Amino acid sequence: MTIFSRIINGEIPCYKIAENDKFFAFLDINPVNWGHTLVVPKKETDYIFDIDDDELAEMTLFAKRVARAIKAALPCRKVGVTVLGLEVPHAHIHLVPLKHEGDMDFKHKIDNPDAEKMKQIAAAIRENFE
Ligand code: 5GP
Repeated sequence: MTIFSRIINGEIPCYKIAENDKFFAFLDINPVNWGHTLVVPKKETDYIFDIDDDELAEMTLFAKRVARAIKAALPCRKVGVTVLGLEVPHAHIHLVPLKHEGDMDFKHKIDNPDAEKMKQIAAAIRENFE
């Protein structure tokens, strides 16, 4: 079982943003910028482009709803979208609020982000999720 499946199952805590029967969204624990969110399918697949067409389309639409909530909750120009998948073998979409290109620099992450701030950000995004 992947670490993300353990988060989805509630075995490992997370700053949860949203969930439906197929997808789950939560804050990245080492964000590249405040509000950095991961969208993952509940069904484990390592590589995003191995996900079947219908599920990938649904995942994109779920990520769109999460991105809209991030944009409504946090000051940013746009929400950037990236797929890496080099660390965790469970497909996921990174969503990062952007003011500048440098806001999505994966070489510079926020280590040990303040828990209270993460909690507040997650709550603000959740409130705007439709
Ligand atoms: P990638 O697989 O896309 O290269 O990177 C995995 C991402 O998942 C990283 O940005 C990392 O910070 C995040 N991540 C890894 N383990 C955990 C975890 O246990 N909880 C949360 N919230 N994020 C994690």
